[in-house]
This record gives sequence, C-alpha cells and structure tokens, in this order.
Amino acid sequence: TLEAWVKKSSAKVDVAVLGSWSNAQAGGPMIWVDHAGGRYYLTLGAASFADYLDSGRTPAVGQWEHIAATYDGATARFYVGGVEVASKPFTGNVGNTNTWRLGAYEATPTGFFDGQLDNVRIYDRALTAAEVAVDMSSRIQQETTPPVVTKATPADGSSGSNAGTTPTVTFNEPMRSSSITTTTFQLKDGTGAVVPATVAYSSATRTATLTPQSALAYGSGYTVTVQGGAGGVADNFGNLLAATTTWSFTTEASPPDILVVTSTARPFGSYVGEILKNEGLNAFTTIDVAFISPALLSGFDVVVLGDTALTPAQVTSLTGWVDGGGNLVALRPDKQLAGLLGLTASTATRSNAYLKVDTATPAGAGIVGATIQYHGTADLYTLGDATAVATLYSSASTATTNPAVTLRSVGTNGGQAAAFAYDLARSVVQTRQGNPSWAGQERDGVTGIRPDDMFYSTWLNTAKIDIPQADEQQRLLVNLITRMNADRMPLPRFWYLPRGEKAVVVMSGDDHSPGNAPGGTAFAFDRFEELSPPGCSVVDWECVRSSSYVYPDSTLTNAQAAAYAAAGFEIGQHPIVSSCPTAPITETQLGSIFDTQLSAWRARYTSIPSPVSSRTHCVYWPDWASEAKVELARGIRLDANYYHYPTPWIGARPGFMTGGGFPMRFADTTGAPIDVFQQNTNLTDESTTNYLLHIDTLLDNALGPNGYYGAFGANMHTDDPQPHPGAETIVEEAQARGVPVISYKQLLDWVDGRDASTIRGLTWAAGSLSFTTTVDAGARGMQLLLPMQGPSGRLSALSSGGQPVAYTVQTIKGIEYAVFGVSTGAYQATYS
Ligand SMILES: [Zn+2]
Repeated sequence: TLEAWVKKSSAKVDVAVLGSWSNAQAGGPMIWVDHAGGRYYLTLGAASFADYLDSGRTPAVGQWEHIAATYDGATARFYVGGVEVASKPFTGNVGNTNTWRLGAYEATPTGFFDGQLDNVRIYDRALTAAEVAVDMSSRIQQETTPPVVTKATPADGSSGSNAGTTPTVTFNEPMRSSSITTTTFQLKDGTGAVVPATVAYSSATRTATLTPQSALAYGSGYTVTVQGGAGGVADNFGNLLAATTTWSFTTEASPPDILVVTSTARPFGSYVGEILKNEGLNAFTTIDVAFISPALLSGFDVVVLGDTALTPAQVTSLTGWVDGGGNLVALRPDKQLAGLLGLTASTATRSNAYLKVDTATPAGAGIVGATIQYHGTADLYTLGDATAVATLYSSASTATTNPAVTLRSVGTNGGQAAAFAYDLARSVVQTRQGNPSWAGQERDGVTGIRPDDMFYSTWLNTAKIDIPQADEQQRLLVNLITRMNADRMPLPRFWYLPRGEKAVVVMSGDDHSPGNAPGGTAFAFDRFEELSPPGCSVVDWECVRSSSYVYPDSTLTNAQAAAYAAAGFEIGQHPIVSSCPTAPITETQLGSIFDTQLSAWRARYTSIPSPVSSRTHCVYWPDWASEAKVELARGIRLDANYYHYPTPWIGARPGFMTGGGFPMRFADTTGAPIDVFQQNTNLTDESTTNYLLHIDTLLDNALGPNGYYGAFGANMHTDDPQPHPGAETIVEEAQARGVPVISYKQLLDWVDGRDASTIRGLTWAAGSLSFTTTVDAGARGMQLLLPMQGPSGRLSALSSGGQPVAYTVQTIKGIEYAVFGVSTGAYQATYS
C-alpha cells in the first residue's frame, strides 16, 4: 500500500508522487501522474504502460486530496478520497527496485513532483478500503516517547579511569544532534567546575562523546551530566530526556608507566592502544598530543607517539624528557624528531613494501627473521648514530639501505629513542582489514563482494601467509618497550588466552535450512557433545563447543535452541543480503536488512539471547567498515566474515589472511577503533583444500617454536545431519594437542573479560615491583607474564597478599618471563 495526502501546484504531467519505479531496475510500484493524460496511475512491473492501473482521475490542482494504491498479489486498486475508483488484475513481478523516492523516480532522479506531500504511509501489505479510510481521517501521530540513556561511560562509581578519558552516553533512539552541546553534556571536576571540552554525537551509534580539552587530574573525582527536561537533550522528534542523568568516576591514582599520544587530526594513533591491549600491556594512558608538556611527560617512563605532527614546543618537550631518561617510541615520526632519533631524514618514501627484523638485536630476538609486509607509507631515513632493529626491503628479497625500525641511546640518564619509519598502527589495521582503496570492489573473480577482495591478490603475499605478519610487528613494539624500560621497571603483561593456552579453535558452521533441508545444526551440536570428554567443564573450555549461524526460519526449533544454548553452544544469525551481491549497498540499507531479519530471528528464538557474533551469507562485506558499525548498533560484537577464500588463491595455503592470530577491534577508515572484534575464519569447507594439513600447520606453528599463537576460526557448514569431515578432522587434531574447541561467543566473552581486566599501580622501589590487578569474571584462567630481568637483577621472589606465588619461566618472543595465574589482588616482585 502506498498512501499520501497530495496537493499539486500545477497541471504538470509525468511526475512521481511516491514509490520505487526505476527503469533500469525492472520498473516497480509507484503512484504517478502519467505523461500523456496527466491522470493518477499505479505503475506495476516493468515499463509497460498497458500494465499500469489508471485511476481515471486527474489531480485537483491547488487542493489537498488523499490518494492510495494497493496490490494484494492478484488485484491492484486505486483510492481517491478514501473511495476505490479503479481496479484491475495483475500477475507477475511488481518490480525489483530498491530506489524508493518521494516526488521523483529513477536511479538518477527525474519526474519531479510539483506541490506538497504529507502523511505519507507505506505498508508491506494491501490495506482494505476501510483501513484506507481510517488512515485518511487520522494524521500520522508524532512519536512522543522520551529518549532513555542506555549506557554511560566510564561506569558510575568506577575508579581508575584514564587521564585521557572521553566520557560517552548512548541513547535508545536517534537523538537531535543540535540538542547535544557543551551546555547539555558536561564534565565537572570535584569542585563542580565545568571541564572545558568538545562534544560530538554519532547518529550511527546514538552515542555522544565528550572530549576534555586538558588531561584529567590523577586521583580525582569527576561527574558527568546529561541535561534532561526543558532545554535538555532531545530525540529526533523533540522529546526531551525526562530527567537529568549524572554519573561519577574517579581517575587512576597516579600515571601508569606508558603514555600513548594520539592526535585528533590523525586518529590512527588511537589504534595504538588497541595494539597494546591485544599484547596484554594493559597499564597505559592515552592523551591527545595537544596536552603534552614537560610536567605531563614527567609522570611516564615510556611514550608511544602515534602518527602526528608536532609543534616545535612539543619537540622540545619530548627531547627534554628523553634526555632526562624517558623512553620514546615514535611511529612514523614528525621529521623534527630526526635528530633525537639519530636519523637523517629525506623526502623520499616507500609504500606497502617489506621489512626484515634483525633477530640479533635484543628487541628483535624471537621475532620472525623472514621479510614481512608493512602497509602504508614509510619515510626513508639513513642511520645517524641510531642502530637498525629492522631494515626496509623493496621486495620480499631485496634489501634497501633504509631502516624500518631504529633505536638510539640518548644522554647519560638512560633515555632511549626508537622509531618505526612507517605508522605501525595504520600498518596493523591495513594488514588485518585489507586495502581501503579496494573496498567495495569485486576483485577475486568469484561473484560476491567479500573481505578477501580487499586483499586479492597483491595486498597479501601468500608466500608469507603462514606468518602472522601484523602480530610479529606488534610484538616487536612490545619487545622494544620492555627492553627499553628494563632500566626503569619490569612491565607485566596479560597472556593472550586462558590457562596459558597458545592456540584455540573457534568452531562454527552456517546452516541454510529450511532451503537446504533438513538442516544440520542439531546434529552438529550433538556430535560435538559426543566428542567432548566425559564430565568436561564448558567454562574451562574442556568441552567441544561451536556456533551455528541460522536463518530466522531455520529448522532448528526455539526449544532446541534453548537446550543447546544452556549446554554452552551458540546459535547466531546468518544475515543474508542476497546470494552473493556484486554491488555495495549503503550502511543504512545494510542496517535495515539486519533489522528486518534480526527482528524475525528474535521473534522465532525467544528463548535465547540476541546474537553477539555473526557471519553473513556469502560473507558479504560491502565496504571498509559499514558492516562492523551495523553490527555494533545491534549488539553484535564479534565478526566472522574475514574468511580465507577463494580456493585458487589461498585455498592451498594455511595461515593468516589478516596477519593476526587474535580478535582485535575493527578500525574505521580514519583509524578510530570500532567496538566490534574481527575474528579471522582461517578454515572453511569451501576453500580449505586439505583439512589435515591446514589445522596441523596452524596448531603446530602456534604451539611450537615459531610462536604463531592464535584463535583459529572455522566454518564447517551445519547444513547436513551427518558428520562433517572437516569438523571431525579439526576436532581430532585439536584434541590430540590439548587445544580447546570453543564457540565464537565463548571467545568474545574471554576477549571482553581480558579487555576489562587491569594492571595498575606499578611502582618500582628498592629492587621491588608492586602492582595491583583486577581480573574480570569473563577472564577465567587469566595468566600474567612478568619479565625475569629487572633493574636490580633477576626475579627472586613473587608474592600476593603475603603468600608466595608459584610461576614457570618461559621465553616468549625472545624475552624471559615468569608466567603465573593471576587473580584480583596486589602483587610484589623482588629482583636481586
Ligand atoms: Zn550462507
């Protein structure tokens, strides 16, 4: 049904009222004033005038009139003034368009309407004459429900917030952005004074963010206020937030050891924090470059400087701080720092090439010695009195004379200055997510736009696919920080997986029932239950568990879903845009498709939670990050679409298409993180050519001396009720090595729990390191790595709450660590 109140201002003909007719898209339904007789028509199907329904009525110029057209699959009807004026039978496709317009038609709009339209209604069914009459006599009611705050950060009553904290507030519905201002959204310090700040609102996430214009004070209380009532924040209809919302938090007591310097102008710097967190270096503060000063820097031992331009005053501050003993790691530094870094700058650059780590250097020891790819632009320097930790290569086998990573000792106070000639953060993002300029392109020769199209074929050198190239570069950064800071204090880190696991299989399957009958989700889950050891613990990842992505009308019943979810399996949504689209669609279009299918899915599976992980049919991925944003707005926070594919390209090569072994947040095109984790699907039953070779290679490289740790995703389709040869092989090989097999949701719970855990209060005094940890409930089995070497010698005693803590000694990527299970508490480590 299409309905509107119409007031034409002239006798203009060939004008659209509303609908979706587009010639190139096989016509479509539209209320239209025809080009010949100038009467209201309902177009149906393709461009065949004879098929259309002629209302027989000419618009009344200068007068409001209510018009409506319906089609019930057999008969088209036209109503004027609430009365049926014409009808005719129609069979066939009414059209395939997705180009909806008011007052125009065609993909390139034309047929512009003259006059006014009001109270436009579109239904996905044919209204009766009585219903049309009711609509005619009732105006569309304005929505009058006030907006509600659904989330506020930092959490009310929380402590330990970063001095660079940017409070956020999320609403349950779209907000009028002009109502969210520095007056209606404020941060106040302990005296009640308003902290100068900027405020921004994202309609995509319905979240407002407040960015203070100075670093917050340590150990101080702050209150955030979102104004309700008159003059307060309002939704898109002008409904005011009912009451003022306030919440309070306290900043961390003192600076942590590491400062990450970001830049609002170049937001890739904010991804540095994502890298440190993934590597378990949890104790850092993030602050915008505008805030750095000698006083601020004096609180930190290590500064990781993201890609940013610097003022001469900032160069002076950083130089003075390094002279005084500070440890600087600069990513694609401003060339004003060249002297401090011991480098000679040029204007030449080299993009998207290779580097080779010198494994004979202390920081390079334990990192892969083969050439590996970086992405983005590297500046070409020559070495002054710095040493090269890694060298740029123009190809996988051709060295250049330019360093990729350098280190220089500065002055007599133990200061050191290191540089990555390229922006490590951008490189990690683009190694993981592909080439942004290829986003939305169909490139791999297999119908459908997928993530691998952004890699195909030269972005990833498949001869390097066995190496987690992004991870190795992240670990070089961590090694540099750890080695550089060894004269100040040993830096503890969280391990990647529970209980010291070096690998985990993340099992899943897509189930295309009911189209592919009878569906195999229940069979697959039963089979995994059979393969699980008797008496196994789900929470300790001892049982074989998996995810299955299903359609809303899957053959899996709501009752079955409830039972399997209670047993620790995950049932998620398999969104479908269509069978392997070759054209991008917008974020709004994708969101609406997700909404339709998700509401059907939720209506069917009422007994289980809304999905938190997702893989789309054909792993459709229309552009750089729209799908991640669509997922985030709908509570889906782990994405399984990055998929090793297709067979002729990487099918015979086990490894890391994304260069990373663990889930990390997506980054937007700007580099700003999106709170949805990318989990690589390394193994698929439509591209993995040899299950045994692939799983064994992945697991052995993770468990063995290469240290290519990872969470390895698998899509072994749950379409059929029979044992899946790929799933059987993967589970058998994992179990033979003691490697857990878990669902995507179990992995997300762990990643969120690890992310929410903290290492704080690092203090070095008189040969002893003390720190406190909080371990989130989701991070069951968390382990800590503590360097064995400290400023005053080797670790000689470790205790918590006065009790000795047992540890093992392991060398991880060239650095010796004490490794132990950690819980919430205070720790004391003596080095002598
Ligand atoms: Zn599918």
